[in-house]
Amino acid sequence: MHCYLNGEFLPTAEARVPVLDRGFLFGDGVYEVIPVYGRRPFRLDAHLRRLRRSLDALRMDPPHDDAHWRSLITELVARQPFDDQGIYVQVTRGVAKRDHAFPKDVAPTVFMMGNPLVTPTAPQLAQGVAAITAADNRWLRCDVKSTALLANVLLRQLAVDQGAAETLLLRDGWLTEGSASNVFIVAGGEIVTPPNGPLLLPGVTAEVVEDAARLEGLPLVRRPVSEAALRAAEAVWITSASREVLAVTTLDARPVGNGRPGPIFERIHRRFQSLKPAPGRP
Ligand code: PMP
Repeated sequence: MHCYLNGEFLPTAEARVPVLDRGFLFGDGVYEVIPVYGRRPFRLDAHLRRLRRSLDALRMDPPHDDAHWRSLITELVARQPFDDQGIYVQVTRGVAKRDHAFPKDVAPTVFMMGNPLVTPTAPQLAQGVAAITAADNRWLRCDVKSTALLANVLLRQLAVDQGAAETLLLRDGWLTEGSASNVFIVAGGEIVTPPNGPLLLPGVTAEVVEDAARLEGLPLVRRPVSEAALRAAEAVWITSASREVLAVTTLDARPVGNGRPGPIFERIHRRFQSLKPAPGRP
């Protein structure tokens, strides 16, 4: 498999980053994961916009303009031996003597790799998955897609330890998001998801679900979701580039609603699939 590192395409096993890279030492970097279907990136503009926002939060200049990113991603996609891919893009502040403060005149490290895109299985779609809840103990800039993911790593492992697929995060009694996903609930005939802000990542897949709801004529609102509302929801869904949209049918070992994904999920999921790039679809 090939990756891209600082201007070069090379086999991933041969790519090397110096130990003084600030991504390695400080987690001083940002990333994106772009889903690619049939070798066509999905919502690339939105991912590149979010990458720019993340870099801006780190007070870093974008290493490339969007046209250059597009051509690098196109080339990487073409070099991989599979059609559906998750393109991982990482930019760090670069290599410098270890000191917390920004180094001067240092080139960023730009790394990209393509992995096979693993989307939910048929049984996961039919039955939904289990999730747990935990206190959201992350920092207050969760809108930045930072490579410093220690809290997310520990929170996701709590789910794995309990045989669950995701950890849904509660901050002061309010739902924020999942350890690596956004969260939607269905309640009183509405689809509800917490508003974007510093406490959660603005998901690109969440925008696809918003588009799907609009096209289905289903009401979707962004407003705060309390822990009580989450636990009383008729349905709970998670979204991410690889999970697409997936129903959570068990929360903290209790069934969500009647314990099945339900008809609204099926409509949103079907519409979501129709929005993905496909042969013959512009
Ligand atoms: N929140 C967090 C914390 C995430 O890690 C992710 C996935 N990267 C998301 C939300 C979903 O974002 P997206 O739909 O763009 O994959």
